[in-house]
Amino acid sequence: MQPDDSVRKEVFAASHRFHPGRVVNICFITVLIFSTLLTWRGAVVLEDAYAATQHTHLENVVNSLDRQLQFSVEKLLFFRNGMQDALETPLASAVLHDTVSRVSDLRTKSFWQLTFDERRTLPLNGVSDAFVEQTNSLIRDDERLEQEMSAAFEMGYLLRINSPPAHAKRIVYVSRAGFYISTEPNNEERDITTRYYQLAINPWFTRQSERDNRARSVRWFTQAAEQDRVVTVSVPVDYQRYWYGVLAIDFTLPGIKKLLQDAVDGNGEGEFQLYDNSFTLLATSDSVARNASQFDERERAQIASAMEKDTEGEIRLGSRYVNWQHLDHFDGVLLRIHTFREGAQGDFGSITIALTLLWLLFTGMLVVSWFVIRRMVSNMYRLQHSLQWQAWHDPLTRINNRGALFERAKALAKRCEQQQQPFSVMQMDLDHFKNINDRYGHQAGDKVLTHAARLITSTIREADVAGRVGGEEFCVVLPGAGPEEAMQIAERIRARINGREILVKKSQTARISVSIGVSSARENGNYDFEQLQSIADARLYQAKQRGRNQVVGQEEKK
Ligand code: GH3
Ligand code: MG
Ligand code: MG
Repeated sequence: MQPDDSVRKEVFAASHRFHPGRVVNICFITVLIFSTLLTWRGAVVLEDAYAATQHTHLENVVNSLDRQLQFSVEKLLFFRNGMQDALETPLASAVLHDTVSRVSDLRTKSFWQLTFDERRTLPLNGVSDAFVEQTNSLIRDDERLEQEMSAAFEMGYLLRINSPPAHAKRIVYVSRAGFYISTEPNNEERDITTRYYQLAINPWFTRQSERDNRARSVRWFTQAAEQDRVVTVSVPVDYQRYWYGVLAIDFTLPGIKKLLQDAVDGNGEGEFQLYDNSFTLLATSDSVARNASQFDERERAQIASAMEKDTEGEIRLGSRYVNWQHLDHFDGVLLRIHTFREGAQGDFGSITIALTLLWLLFTGMLVVSWFVIRRMVSNMYRLQHSLQWQAWHDPLTRINNRGALFERAKALAKRCEQQQQPFSVMQMDLDHFKNINDRYGHQAGDKVLTHAARLITSTIREADVAGRVGGEEFCVVLPGAGPEEAMQIAERIRARINGREILVKKSQTARISVSIGVSSARENGNYDFEQLQSIADARLYQAKQRGRNQVVGQEEKK
């Protein structure tokens, strides 16, 4: 590579590496990334806070509902204790004993009712021995029957004086010995068989056997009854390891809905839904059931699989935010559904919208200012390059101007001197150029100058440097070229310039010629460019004097 060229290329490469446009891009991208990261971080914090608030809403309702349901559970346990107590220490009342002993007359009837002071306790409703014998889970143990009945009368007293849990439909004790007492009066006496049958086939009764409920604990059931579903909490009654019967509290779905609505009261927007353990919807807090959120099969599967992992959590389903929590005193789960619309109207929604708008505004302004600054910078960059080019080049011929040629030639001469390489200079001047101007005009003269410059640059080697040093004078420096090689190149230039006619004007051609003087550093070991140029100039003068259109090099020794 040409030595001084390497310097220029380095400068050029450096200016490319630090292209101000790139710096502007990097700055703006950095600002954009940071502002986006900050906004995103803010959004994450907001989302966490939103999730926490949603969870608090749900937890409040869960706690409130749990308290209500716990009340029912505790009531059941209280009645069971009462019954067990009565079994352990029967009331020593002759009237009660007489009443109970009447069962021996009644037990063969298909249905019967036994009352004992109706203002004080509830009646016992029974079915026949035959009925009990036919049914698997039932057993009428003669030794226990009367004692159980008198205990049931005593518990009936408890059932009557204790207010039932809120929104409960009824409390019932179903004995395996073929009778029941219920806070719900019979419509007609004839109903007793049907009602007993219905009670005794219920899962909340049959599944309280020692085998099905080893812990003898309170259990929740939901099952279809008549047109509607019924939610029942039941507990087995045992005494001395003998299973007597089951105590149960029934809730209708409207009752459960009321419980839920009481619990939700004042706990923010959003819909609450209560599901049983088989994920069947029992109640919604929405007053109009039609408006209740529905989940399709895929969404139900998504919720169910999320619920398997934890007793509480949240999931996003399209535009709905769903969180759930299992209840402590109920075998089911409470869901809270918050729609995007509700979210957007809330505090978090408006802050999120404001944050997004702020980010959009900032980003928009950033992009506009980036665009403007980018354009300004690239215009300045182009201007700088154009000025730089103009400072180094001749605008007409587009080759080096005098200043650039001298600078580069001196640097090349120095390098060649250091490396002990030959170095030659050519000075050339177009012959009778004034005539071209005079005959064809100044524009034709310019055209000839451009043409000559193009011929010169296309003839010299890549390492050589050509420049316009005067009106119609050119100079070429040839690093590494000795006198003979320089003479050959000069001769080639002369021949090419003189070789063809040039179209100077429309349908007018002219043949021009050039005189060239050549000098070389090898002649006397002098690498001073200015001296070499003046020697070449003197030889150029000689070429003019000898008749022009020729090359003069080293003086032949005479
Ligand atoms: P010689 O063979 O002795 O060199 O004769 P000449 O006519 O070429 O020499 P002279 O120095 O008398 O004339 C040079 C002319 O070049 C004078 C000037 O008008 C013309 N000239 C200088 N610069 C330009 C230019 O940029 N464009 C044009 N068209 N002509 C120029
Ligand atoms: Mg001339
Ligand atoms: Mg001249």
